[in-house]
Amino acid sequence: MRTRRGVLLAGLLAPTALRGFAFAGPVESAATGTSPAGAARAGEDVASARFTVTGSMEQGSLAVGTAPPGSLVSLDGRPLSVTPDGRFAFGFGPDQITPSLVTVRYPDAGGDSRSYLPVARQYEEQRVNGLPQNTVTPPPEVRARIAHEAETIYLARLYDSPGSDFLSGFDWPAPGIESGVFGSRRIDNGVAMSPHWGVDMAAPAGTPICAPADGLVRICDDYYLDGGFTLIDHGQGVSTSYLHQSARLVKAGDHVRRGQMIGRIGATGRATGPHLHWAMNWFEVRLDPSRSTRTAKPEPL
Ligand SMILES: [Zn+2]
Repeated sequence: MRTRRGVLLAGLLAPTALRGFAFAGPVESAATGTSPAGAARAGEDVASARFTVTGSMEQGSLAVGTAPPGSLVSLDGRPLSVTPDGRFAFGFGPDQITPSLVTVRYPDAGGDSRSYLPVARQYEEQRVNGLPQNTVTPPPEVRARIAHEAETIYLARLYDSPGSDFLSGFDWPAPGIESGVFGSRRIDNGVAMSPHWGVDMAAPAGTPICAPADGLVRICDDYYLDGGFTLIDHGQGVSTSYLHQSARLVKAGDHVRRGQMIGRIGATGRATGPHLHWAMNWFEVRLDPSRSTRTAKPEPL
């Protein structure tokens, strides 16, 4: 599975390196805009391509495609999994400034290729103080544990499961105040950290957390930085994660249903107070789950 990172990176760096596709029909790249505002937007199909790609079409967002059943689909020249009825997913990187090239070969021969340039986002800076210092600058004796946990999460996100639970969209998993947004540059206790790859929902400890969509639990464990941690696989590389839980109510291998209570909000791991850190990935690409929600942002409790 180690190679997946290299495969995806290579794909992003070489968008025209198509392999394994022979076209009988015309190839077009009509959707590439000259500015982010001119790029393909959700539901916009200016060309005659027989496939569609929808989503918020922003940096750090999940895109979902629909092609004729039996089609072969590639992203930047690399094959994507496709459901029997022609559905597929991919993610735009949080800092992606090059278009993603989607190529579809139809079952009746012929094909189309279109580029999608994600709309650029402005990420804010957030200073967080009062964090346990041993979670900002962990002591040497826990570094191996932290590295092992990060590796475990990385590997769990590489599953290319045949499921399509991501297709139905995502509900907000918990109520609360949105106390942290995706992509912000974090300065924790005065120390510059990696960007904040998730959405924080602050709510009282013990508040229920519910699965936002059906899926398969890949990880449910207690981690040093992430605290009570659960990772759900929604198919085709789309996963969501739940951090800092005070209680975990599922286990690895469980199939969960939308709305099922999976845990409770807490302040375990690197946290100043009770909140849910909700993350979404497409393989290792970090995505903003708030851009894939089908329900309105919840009210604070
Ligand atoms: Zn967070």
